[in-house]
Amino acid sequence: MSGRLEARGLGVRIDGARILDGVDLDVAPGELVALVGPNGAGKSTLLAALAGDLEPTEGTVTLDGRGLRAYRARELARVRGVLLQQQRLAFGFRAREVVAMGRAPWHGTDAEDRDAEVVAAATSRTDVAHLVDRLFPTLSGGEQARVSFARVLAQEPRLLLLDEPTAALDLQHQEGVLAVARAEAADGAAVVVVLHDLSLAAAYADRVCVLADGRVRAVGTPREVLRADLLGDVYRHPVDVVEHGGHLVVIPVRSPRASPRTSTVTESEEDPCPAV
Ligand code: ADP
Ligand code: MG
Repeated sequence: MSGRLEARGLGVRIDGARILDGVDLDVAPGELVALVGPNGAGKSTLLAALAGDLEPTEGTVTLDGRGLRAYRARELARVRGVLLQQQRLAFGFRAREVVAMGRAPWHGTDAEDRDAEVVAAATSRTDVAHLVDRLFPTLSGGEQARVSFARVLAQEPRLLLLDEPTAALDLQHQEGVLAVARAEAADGAAVVVVLHDLSLAAAYADRVCVLADGRVRAVGTPREVLRADLLGDVYRHPVDVVEHGGHLVVIPVRSPRASPRTSTVTESEEDPCPAV
């Protein structure tokens, strides 16, 4: 079981509205694909269709050559892990138990012997080992996101589908989570990550898929896709794309800041000898 994902001609309509239209996407084992695009572009809908959690109106998704519908639920849970955009509030559960839920698909198999070891490794990699005894709902948004990511890692899937895993995270943990996602890809997993930070996508993705209005606008390497003209058009805001430290950095064009307060303060109002 390798985790090769192929989506062909995916269409999703909800209440007559076309949410996805003609989406083709391949993700190979060993590859990290960033899925980017404006709010409402259809990223979460696409991820749900790729996960088999949403039945597309048109088109097919295959995992290792088999249609997702041919998988039994438990079998699918052993191969693909999904981190949803919104964490489900696991009332009454401690963080350790939430991470251990990732092992559920392996119960009754030989892999069960490794449960404790796998859970410990997942909590350590996501920097939540110090939080495992806390009740999940008492954790901060970023801590909940990392515990949920640890649950996905504990599942040991060959395909990881991560919806905005870095949205609530501080700078250190954003880098940490994407470094782990990259390591999973290096270890042979296929990884799809929805990201809003295009510089993170540039730094960590092998390929970037730009979704807009339910369609794929571009897909390719960061250098092929993260172009100022394309991004400015898709996001309806001008951007600069610059090179820094061997990576592309995407910066929204901003108007200069208003000049400092001295411009509105007359000289007579200023204290020539401010108290220190
Ligand atoms: P993204 O994750 O890119 O922000 P989504 O995939 O969540 O976008 O949603 C794409 C579009 O589909 C949005 O306009 C959203 O409002 C709409 N949409 C998603 N799910 C539903 C639903 N169940 N009913 C109606 N509209 C929906
Ligand atoms: Mg979304």
